[in-house]
Amino acid sequence: MASIIDGKAIAAQVEAEVAASGAALLRDHGIQAGLAVVLVGEDPASRIYVRRKIAQTRKAGMLSIEHRLPAETSEADLLSLIEALNVDPTVHGILVQLPLPPQIDANRVLDRIDPMKDVDGFHPVNVGRLSTGTGGLIPCTPLGCMMLLDTVISDFRGMKAVVIGKSNIVGKPVAMLLLERECTVTVTHIHTRGLPEIVRGADIVVVAAGCPGLVRGNWVKPDAIVIDVGINRIEGPDGQPTLVGDAAFGELGHARAITPVPGGVGPMTIACLLRNTMDAASRHATVR
Ligand code: NAD
Repeated sequence: MASIIDGKAIAAQVEAEVAASGAALLRDHGIQAGLAVVLVGEDPASRIYVRRKIAQTRKAGMLSIEHRLPAETSEADLLSLIEALNVDPTVHGILVQLPLPPQIDANRVLDRIDPMKDVDGFHPVNVGRLSTGTGGLIPCTPLGCMMLLDTVISDFRGMKAVVIGKSNIVGKPVAMLLLERECTVTVTHIHTRGLPEIVRGADIVVVAAGCPGLVRGNWVKPDAIVIDVGINRIEGPDGQPTLVGDAAFGELGHARAITPVPGGVGPMTIACLLRNTMDAASRHATVR
């Protein structure tokens, strides 16, 4: 039977470590790590994510700074807020919840965040650092995927990894992280031909496609590890909405290890956000 990688428990452990580091930072340097979360508009999913992030930030003993702006906020006003947060010494991490309303260019906003406070790891400086393996802040979901893999793999060298999905927030950074660990990485996407055959050769499958049940049991070899990033809301057998991943979980009993949805990658994303904020605050303490 495949072992189930318990993201909820691992995330709780990461959050406890972050809280302990936060207490030490406050005691030794008088610094309380602070995370500023900026939400523009009323997108219901974004509001839920932001609420969770704020609650977890507070639970970890960090300062949570919230900016809720109306949907009609101009790009110039949002950029001014980012500039103010960049120079605010109580703010160590800045998170702008995506998506942004259509009048705002998300790239221009993300590019304006101080790379040292870019806890989402989306700034070109951090993307460049990731691709050159020179440190920097790593995007939260990909970092969470690697932490989950670390619980079942001690040596990644030479393993064949297939990443399904090539988004900037998940697929590409996760591929860079696997490459950094000396895996042989294949990145696939919607136009990839012969995907099942490619996946059959993989020791590690990371799927982030947003396509429910895409990875079937007969695509996955018996000793493979499957990290399912997908979060899809579908109608369950009882007619009620239910969350499923991008892998056909019930068909993967023969795999070596798999992540469930919910309770796999999802909880790791917030835990890694808190960890990145703590890292940014600790760096701030050492460069003061
Ligand atoms: P995206 O839409 O930006 O990218 C999807 C990628 O998957 C694209 O590169 C596309 O080419 C590829 N793709 C789509 N259908 C495919 C198919 N049938 N075969 C092969 N490739 C296919 O999505 P994203 O933002 O990277 O998110 C992907 C999924 O991960 C979504 O379900 C999203 O909700 C989820 N997600 C979860 C977390 C988390 O915290 N667990 C974080 C981010 C995203």
